[in-house]
Amino acid sequence: ENTTIDIKKLSPMMAEYVKTKQQYKDCILFYRLGDFYEMFFEDALTVTKELEITLTGKDCGLEERAPMCGVPFHAAETYINRLIEKGYKVAICEQVEDPKKAKGLVKREVIRVVTPGTTLDAASLDESKNNYLMSIVSMEDHFGCAIADISTGDCFLTEVDKPQKLLDEINKFVPAEIICNDAFFMSGVDTDDLKNRLGICVFPLDAWYFDDSLCKRTLKEHFHVNTLEGLGIQDYDIGVIASGALFLYLQETQKSALSHMAGIRPYAAEKYMLIDSSSRRNLELVETLREKNKRGSLLWVLDKTKTAMGARTLRSYVEQPLIDAQEINRRLEALEELNKSPMLRDEIREYLNPIYDLERLISRISYQSANPRDLIAFASSLEMLPHIRQILKDFKTPLLTELYEDMDPLEDIASLIKSAIVDEPPLAQKDGGIIREGYHEDVDKFRRSRTDGKKWLTELEVREKERTGIKSLKIKYNRVFGYSLEVTNSFKELVPENYIRKQTLTNAERYITQELKDLEDLILGAEDKLYALEYELFCEVRDKVGAEVVRIQKTAKAVAALDVFASLALVAQRNNYVRPKINESGVLDIKNGRHPVVEQMIEHDMFIANDTYLDNQKKRVSIITGPNMAGKSTYMRQTALIVLMAQIGSFVPADKANIGIVDRIFTRVGASDDLASGQSTFMIEMTEVANILRNATSRSLLILDEIGRGTSTFDGLAIAWAVIEHISDTKLCGAKTLFATHYHELTELEGKISGVNNYCIAVKEKGDDIVFLRKIVKGGADKSYGIQVAKLAGVPDSVICRAKELVEELSDADITAAVKDLTSSSKKKQKIVYDQVDMAQMSLFDTVQDNDIVEEIRNLDMSHLTPMEAMNILYNLQNKI
Ligand code: ADP
Repeated sequence: ENTTIDIKKLSPMMAEYVKTKQQYKDCILFYRLGDFYEMFFEDALTVTKELEITLTGKDCGLEERAPMCGVPFHAAETYINRLIEKGYKVAICEQVEDPKKAKGLVKREVIRVVTPGTTLDAASLDESKNNYLMSIVSMEDHFGCAIADISTGDCFLTEVDKPQKLLDEINKFVPAEIICNDAFFMSGVDTDDLKNRLGICVFPLDAWYFDDSLCKRTLKEHFHVNTLEGLGIQDYDIGVIASGALFLYLQETQKSALSHMAGIRPYAAEKYMLIDSSSRRNLELVETLREKNKRGSLLWVLDKTKTAMGARTLRSYVEQPLIDAQEINRRLEALEELNKSPMLRDEIREYLNPIYDLERLISRISYQSANPRDLIAFASSLEMLPHIRQILKDFKTPLLTELYEDMDPLEDIASLIKSAIVDEPPLAQKDGGIIREGYHEDVDKFRRSRTDGKKWLTELEVREKERTGIKSLKIKYNRVFGYSLEVTNSFKELVPENYIRKQTLTNAERYITQELKDLEDLILGAEDKLYALEYELFCEVRDKVGAEVVRIQKTAKAVAALDVFASLALVAQRNNYVRPKINESGVLDIKNGRHPVVEQMIEHDMFIANDTYLDNQKKRVSIITGPNMAGKSTYMRQTALIVLMAQIGSFVPADKANIGIVDRIFTRVGASDDLASGQSTFMIEMTEVANILRNATSRSLLILDEIGRGTSTFDGLAIAWAVIEHISDTKLCGAKTLFATHYHELTELEGKISGVNNYCIAVKEKGDDIVFLRKIVKGGADKSYGIQVAKLAGVPDSVICRAKELVEELSDADITAAVKDLTSSSKKKQKIVYDQVDMAQMSLFDTVQDNDIVEEIRNLDMSHLTPMEAMNILYNLQNKI
């Protein structure tokens, strides 16, 4: 756009603007003019549209006025945050010299570029969540991946060798922003989907960012090391490029030293359990599926942390469960020890309570953006550390001992701050009132001069009167001449040598002395000097604290981890969890397991516990039947969540649990959850099934709920059938699987395919009604009780009766016959059977004589209808007949 503008014709200011804008083409340029940030041309049009502010114009030298809009500088943060949220980058161009002193145009410079992954504004950051920037380099089917949170100083790098694995990493961190090379767009990762589904902004960077030697040099310079060995990242070729590009980008955008980004931690992606994005959502790990609330998620149950750092750490534990038995046991052991002394555990939590977000505070301190109040909050937080260490000292498990050692009491830093800064400093940094009395001689002197000034003047007056004998001598103040000693003409000859004439009045002369001059400087300069000095000292203290960033970050990590373990321990005790045994033989044996979230949501003690047993031999696949609402999906999710909790290092809701470590958890849960994305639900279902079948291993746990529901009965059954055959084949997959289905025909597979077993969730018939027992038992359900459930839901009797009639007509449906055939059939036969079934369906249509209505009923999602909704639908259907 700007290239079409003739710069030569522009006014000087606008020419400057266009030059700057050309360097920040991909950003919205906030251009400081006096008390406003102004935007021009294309930017102005974008911003007025996005933020609904008024578009105006500015004479710019061209024929037409330049489109312009502006926001007041003191309110800019809000506007910037809103643009960032919408996926824009904002370059902030400030006046870098005092307009009063400028000759000609005021000098302006871009001082920072704010992007979704690099925002530091407290208002736009969720304190219980990291805000990640991810740098991805795609090269010949390999990916280098560097991740940083500049608000906390965390930084990681890894490499993966498949697009799918890269997606797993993206899902794990859910960065706010991805920067990448161009090749990434051709790597098979759907970047539109990242944007639409996860709200991740993806920005490609110019090729020079990914220059191998520039990247290496950047990292070495940033971390002040001579070789990459010093960082332990020498073996990561593309990982190093990803990290180098990340730091180049941070330098370009932050224009600051980033000294708080003090380390970079390489990790092996295989070190953590993999959970794809739909499984994360289905299992409601950190938010619920529907309302996207934390309440109702696993994290909601587990999170009793006291600090923001702890909350973030727990969240990251939930998002990346471990797969190393030893590491899991270390955590479990720590919980056990904490719960042996619940009093001490609770005392630790008391001391954690007042601790502020040390990680984000130290980042702001390093950025020199922390204010005096931040420092005081920081110091009072640090004062808790010695108390916590005192308690922690007596714990014996390796993990807690390690935390004790990592936790620096940081007493020097706390006392530096406390000695320098008053308890309740003002927010403003340049109006004094920050530095504590007694910290610095000059501050005290300036303060005294300000208050004592008047007194000293009077004293001087008295003294001079006495010394000179001039009775009329008075100290006067005049705005132009300042302080002076006034002597009326009658005492002229008594004026001593050292008086210097300053001003002559009609009947008096005014004089100055060195002493008075000094006093004047002191009084008039005191305030200015005081404020300047206080600010300087405050900055000095802030920088001294900032220099200790490594110690502080290490301590903050230890505090965060301790907070997590204390929280997990408390939750374990309150909710009656047990310590799981961890095995690597693949046995999954849960006695009286409970769903951690559902049991919290329903009335106390009303949850019915159930066992789960799966292994890699005879009990690989459980086919679970039972009517809608029986509790199938609750049961399956509870199993997945218990495994996941164990691998986080948490105790689990069961009487006893022996957990075989799983490498991945896959879930495929009934359709209808993805309406927003616009794809056909069946298509989504099948895409997920494809993903599962391609990636599940014998160490994986699969939760499959109603596979094949989205298509015609026979297709659905056939797909479900084939999926089970595939999964249960140890050569192809062999994963441990819970498979819920409403196709009772699938129970035929028990005994025919090894490793497959039937279970059902028991219901009791009570006359015409059913009672849910919620107990899982061996064997298959032979009835679906759909009509009884419909009745329970409040469907009117007339409809229920009619439905019963139809069931009679369709009883022994050809499906059953078809299945019998299938177990011994050839491909050709299947085709024929398929046609027969379609015929069967046709006859149903004939009975009702209205395809639309049947279609509507078929598409109803009974398990998610309220009785009221069901009533309304029926009422409408009736009207159509
Ligand atoms: P299905 O998947 O078989 O349709 P759900 O698992 O959705 O059934 O369970 C239906 C409802 O029953 C759940 O909302 C839950 O409140 C309740 N429920 C399920 N299992 C249990 C249980 N073991 N104890 C108590 N209530 C349960």
